[in-house]
Amino acid sequence: MGNQKKLLEQVVELKKKAFILAHNYQRPEVQAVADFVGDSLGLAKQAVSLQNEIVVFCGVYFMAETAAILNPEKKILIPDRTAGCPLSDFASAQMVREWRRNYPEHTFVAYVNTTAEVKAEVDICCTSSNAVSLVRALPNDKIVFLPDKNLGAWVARNVPEKDIVLWPGYCVVHEFVKLEAVLAEKERYPDALIVAHPECGLEVLDRADGVCSTGQMFDFVRNHPETKRFIVVTESGVNYALKNMFPDKNFIEPKTNLLCRNMKKITLEKVLHCLEKEDFLVKVDSETSERARKAIDNMLQMKT
Ligand code: SF4
Repeated sequence: MGNQKKLLEQVVELKKKAFILAHNYQRPEVQAVADFVGDSLGLAKQAVSLQNEIVVFCGVYFMAETAAILNPEKKILIPDRTAGCPLSDFASAQMVREWRRNYPEHTFVAYVNTTAEVKAEVDICCTSSNAVSLVRALPNDKIVFLPDKNLGAWVARNVPEKDIVLWPGYCVVHEFVKLEAVLAEKERYPDALIVAHPECGLEVLDRADGVCSTGQMFDFVRNHPETKRFIVVTESGVNYALKNMFPDKNFIEPKTNLLCRNMKKITLEKVLHCLEKEDFLVKVDSETSERARKAIDNMLQMKT
């Protein structure tokens, strides 16, 4: 306990020179030292407006890359460079180029959970918050959606007027959510509302009262003032921030594995090391960065 307190004090002292961004799936103690906590869209927008020269990105690698693309003049650091995202590994630049040959008339929409090289090959990015409205607003009716087949299926369900080709990738956390575990909590707490992330399969989403990105989950709870309990179907880290914001509500985690190993690789010790040594620097080469930036800017400029 004493060590933890000392560690925390050291981080707080050193972080004066940097801005710490943390994803909602981070460990509670990491979220607690962050200057801003949010989902992918919130973090991307925050990254654009940062004044600090040094930014510590507590999340997985593609997120830090996105921050580096948006802030080429800043030092973007990640406390553990092995914190990858298995979902982003489902697509490579080479694969996208091949698919482009097979679907020459399609607009390629990449979920932000992709590498910088993949972003550089697509037309536009999206996040789980804006995927449905963004695809709906695109002028082209032919879409290739990558790399998450579940988010893509959710978009296709909500935008039936478009022809959407799905890439066969998935998030290893959300894909394997056990529906029985979610329904068991609903049986135990019939008054609870189920809120699920769109990276879950449709069989889970069909039983949810709200399908939301992690950022939208906060609005969902806010918009249901009478409801005391929520069954939260996404990575368990979000419950910490939900509980902080809504201390009088109960957030129930279904008994199914909702831990992202990669998100949890970032620890307070590693944040301290990162601040002390300015390790590890996230760099994207300028040509890739410029092309990837276009896809991100296209998303940020869409009125969705
Ligand atoms: S929760 Fe899923 S999508 Fe998010 S970082 Fe982990 S593996 Fe990737």
